[in-house]
Amino acid sequence: MNGAGSSGVQELKLEPGHELRMEVDWGKQVHLQLLEGEAEVFGTALDLRERVAIGGQKVAVYSWRGCTLQLEGEPDLMYTSDETPMSQYLNIHDGLDARRQDARKDRKEGPRTFVVGPTDVGKSTLCKILLNYAVRAGWTPTFADMDIGQGSITVPGCIAATPVEAPIDIEDGLPTDAPLVYYTGTPSPSDNPALYRHLVERLAAVLDLRAQSDPQVRASGMILNSMGWIVELGYELLKHTIETLKCDVVLVVGDERLYSQLSGELKRSAPSIQVLKLPRSGGVVVRSRELRQAARKVRVEEYFYGNRKELSPASQTARFEDLQVYRVGGGPRAPSSALPIGATSVADPLKLTRVTNPQELLYTLLAVSHAPQPELLLSVNVAGFIYVQDVDAAKGTITYLAPCAGPLPSSLLLAGAFKTYLD
Ligand code: ATP
Repeated sequence: MNGAGSSGVQELKLEPGHELRMEVDWGKQVHLQLLEGEAEVFGTALDLRERVAIGGQKVAVYSWRGCTLQLEGEPDLMYTSDETPMSQYLNIHDGLDARRQDARKDRKEGPRTFVVGPTDVGKSTLCKILLNYAVRAGWTPTFADMDIGQGSITVPGCIAATPVEAPIDIEDGLPTDAPLVYYTGTPSPSDNPALYRHLVERLAAVLDLRAQSDPQVRASGMILNSMGWIVELGYELLKHTIETLKCDVVLVVGDERLYSQLSGELKRSAPSIQVLKLPRSGGVVVRSRELRQAARKVRVEEYFYGNRKELSPASQTARFEDLQVYRVGGGPRAPSSALPIGATSVADPLKLTRVTNPQELLYTLLAVSHAPQPELLLSVNVAGFIYVQDVDAAKGTITYLAPCAGPLPSSLLLAGAFKTYLD
């Protein structure tokens, strides 16, 4: 490696099978250019001489055959390594590719691959790599993100899916033109596991329909990302997703115990599911609780303002009485006199309650629903989100940030339970 000169520009040579790992803090940018050879960032190939900005990211530039790179700016951390799981990841891709080709020949469904493992083992990264390799091989895989903690497709709190038709943009991330989104309103499924299950089932039903209507989408299959909660209820929810989304390949990253537990159980209950274990990459960066919280805020900001602040969200004011805002859960218990003898009364976790006090919505995200009526709020996907910036109780108005100016597509809104403080 040549050190950065006074101009802050340096050239780096990467040997075949090596990766350059870089961390660039939020609010800072480093520019990368491929001068010679070939290189990729999590499966997205770099074009020769294309200047790519890396900011607020931790990335690895990997080269199968070696390359020369130019770097402008100083990353916060940078080193190279030849200890990567990329060969194993490529083997997995080859296996999935063969299954997709068989599926196309037999007019069947391609593999539905669920990536599971504890937090910070590189699950999202492996999903990106497998999606990119699939796209580069001519497929149109569907990406489904079941990790409501981070929300890589829209905002945190969502179960969402999107077709991936082009390599994932290194600067802009996943495509967001036509996502299918369901809002749980919380970054943790433990707050309302019944709601999480319900929305996974809704998503699965719609994805089945989409796959049936397009042979290319059907043969391409799916790549699903999971949350890092793998014990107790978290483990039960993983199994529920495997079953509901009819996953037939499960990749367990970086956890022997989870691998042995899942493979043992699935061998008995669903022997056709292939369960494979994969190592964690040494490059994966461990994130603290605070960093995860900060990342959630960044995701919400990016939703409204764009990665490069290229979007112009609109701040608007509405009369609260013109909106119908509902929240989920905490419904009143049924009186025991109304229950069969011996049954106990429990709160309905899917009960919808109309929000009457706008003050409680301050600094929360509201999902704008596609549902035609309140009873269908949890059955229909959402159109997008607004963020409540201010509430004027005296005037009975709320001021919100929306991705664009103009009336909302619907006045039927689903309230989230977590607060995000945007500056
Ligand atoms: P979570 O527990 O949040 O679901 P995860 O298991 O999905 O995490 P990733 O998000 O894939 O883990 O990786 C964590 C961080 O490490 C990300 O910022 C990612 O870009 C970074 N990362 C992954 N692989 C590498 C690598 N080889 N070199 C450098 N950074 C990496």
